Amino acid sequence: MITITEVLREKGLKVTPQRIAIYAMLSGTKSHPSAEEIYKALMPTNPTISLATVYKTLDSFKTTGLVQELSVGNGRSNYDANVLPHPHIVCTNCGKIFDFEIQGLSSLRNQVADQTDFIVEGEQLTFYGICPACRHN
Ligand code: ZN
Ligand code: MN
Repeated sequence: MITITEVLREKGLKVTPQRIAIYAMLSGTKSHPSAEEIYKALMPTNPTISLATVYKTLDSFKTTGLVQELSVGNGRSNYDANVLPHPHIVCTNCGKIFDFEIQGLSSLRNQVADQTDFIVEGEQLTFYGICPACRHN
């Protein structure tokens, strides 16, 4: 079992209790929280944490490839500890962001490269709709 301390050290990041708490929270959720949501979730158990610290930490996590930042058009950034390429679907009613699996993502990337002559470095594939919970309300 690799510990969060080891994960942070491997990325050359200084290990602090707050960084550990933020990475633990992000790697333990599939909810794609925003910085504010991470801050609110951690405040009760980490009373000295500040929103600025959360932002700074997320920035260093992003730079070192520990998290990916999602822009799904909700006016804020959402964070994902799963840094492998995968698509998302966003509920236009409740705002929740879900993962799903798709076949042919690399073939799609090849088509984009072929048609545009770009060296494709990444993509964010986001679908929108009404989630099952909202649909059944
Ligand atoms: Zn919903
Ligand atoms: Mn995700």
